[in-house]
Amino acid sequence: MCPHSPPCPDAKDPDREAARTIISHPEQGWSLLCNGIVVFEDTGELLPDGETIAPHRPTDMTTPAAKITPAVRRSTEGTGQSSAA
Ligand SMILES: [Zn+2]
Repeated sequence: MCPHSPPCPDAKDPDREAARTIISHPEQGWSLLCNGIVVFEDTGELLPDGETIAPHRPTDMTTPAAKITPAVRRSTEGTGQSSAA
């Protein structure tokens, strides 16, 4: 699946996230890597064989108070959807 040379890490390799992004949908919160992995904005992953990887990295490295950020983000997305409808 990977068209690059040298080839990117395989979906089963520990450094699989180092593969290049071939499709990016930040508005939907996911990207497709050239090794077939779908990476979500919360760092969760969907592997080509259907296996899922739970979110495993903090998405906001600033302060502990940043824990409120996801709720703020969700309310912002909701506003966007209602205005689009
Ligand atoms: Zn590649």
